[in-house]
Amino acid sequence: MTTRVVVLGAGFGGLELTTILSDAFGSAIDITLIDKADAFVFGYSKLDVMFGRQTLAAVRHPYRDVVKPGVRVIQTEVRSFDPSAKRVVTDSGTLDADALVVALGADYDLAATPGLADGANEFYSVAGAERLRELLPRFEGGPAIVGVCGKSFKCPPAPSEAAFLLHDFLSERGRRQTSEISVIMPFGTPIPPSPDTSTAVLAAFEQRGIRFVKDRLVKALDPARKVARLSDGSEMPYALFLGIPVHRVPSVVVESGLAAHPHDWVPVNKQTLETRFPGVYAVGDVNGVGTPKAGVFAEGAARVVAAAIVARIKGGTAPEPYKGQGSCYVEFGHDQVGRVDVDFLSGPKPTGTFQPPSEALVAEKAYFGSSRLQRWFGKSADVKDVASSA
Ligand SMILES: Cc1cc2nc3c(=O)[nH]c(=O)nc-3n(C[C@H](O)[C@H](O)[C@H](O)COP(=O)(O)OP(=O)(O)OC[C@H]3O[C@@H](n4cnc5c(N)ncnc54)[C@H](O)[C@@H]3O)c2cc1C
Repeated sequence: MTTRVVVLGAGFGGLELTTILSDAFGSAIDITLIDKADAFVFGYSKLDVMFGRQTLAAVRHPYRDVVKPGVRVIQTEVRSFDPSAKRVVTDSGTLDADALVVALGADYDLAATPGLADGANEFYSVAGAERLRELLPRFEGGPAIVGVCGKSFKCPPAPSEAAFLLHDFLSERGRRQTSEISVIMPFGTPIPPSPDTSTAVLAAFEQRGIRFVKDRLVKALDPARKVARLSDGSEMPYALFLGIPVHRVPSVVVESGLAAHPHDWVPVNKQTLETRFPGVYAVGDVNGVGTPKAGVFAEGAARVVAAAIVARIKGGTAPEPYKGQGSCYVEFGHDQVGRVDVDFLSGPKPTGTFQPPSEALVAEKAYFGSSRLQRWFGKSADVKDVASSA
């Protein structure tokens, strides 16, 4: 009988897993890939949209282009699922699976930060980045805050990247001297697993006059007084607030029983990414494996789960355990890109090594994107043969 694999969510994790299984089995497997959106957008493209470096149309990759043997892509919302029965209810009907992969990512809880939805801005959603694209050219100057509202958030370098790009944006428009940029983060350093990366980011902040406010979160905003209230009780004024909202487990996942609480990521076996339900896996931002919430880690998890499904169907040996390794590119502005290679699970504590900005890394980041588009969507890669360590 053909194995039925149902993949919930066509982000980094879902697309990578689907691609590997289709490559392995062709039409001898029955994969259903479900997403409520009609297109994929790389997380980092939100920065490009927000600062007007790319149009939204240019960074949207429609799911209709995912044409692979054995794969059916359905645009529909997952309303509920039962992990014990491996049954999924969507707006387009009910599906039963032999293997169920939950790759629904992280949702944002704007209401957890009073004032964020009505008096400030976030740049972590496509809609938020689009709004800022309109608003930023009208910013005349004053205190600008890039503020993190919750402890667990996607792509730890992204707040620093936003600050660097804001510095460039304002400098190019002659408004940097009338603005102060601050980054508020819940960590003591910008990239805790990598002291070298943190040192480089802090040095670049200093060169550009960006203030790093460490070990604090933004708890609330008072849009009438234009102040941000921080976790230590202090206040900071803002004329522009670029927020990183509190992240939460999607409601449908909490309702399935896989997560105990909106802020408890799905518990999994750290080596196999399997949940407490046999044959039900959680990959990417939705799981609580302890790696950063980043596309490269979602992909790594997807590879382990794909190998487990391949072994289950072909009867091979168990796959290598998940290692929690990945490389993240760090935009320093001025068209500079560095890289941090992090290893979360191999040793007693996470480690990270830093590669300083170089032209080779600018090309490598471009290839990182285009190679995914080639593999997942069949688009041609525009840069050839640059080693991608992602
Ligand atoms: C500003 C920013 C910059 C970033 N930069 C980087 C970077 O440089 N490198 C990097 O590796 N990562 C980066 N990231 C993080 C990266 O985007 C995420 O970690 C990654 O997308 C997680 O992959 P995922 O597969 O777990 O979830 P996602 O990619 O979020 O995919 C989840 C999918 O599930 C779908 N979905 C959710 N609920 C439902 C439902 N009920 N029914 C149907 N579909 C549903 C969503 O539409 C979505 O397509 C960045 C993120 C941001 C915000």
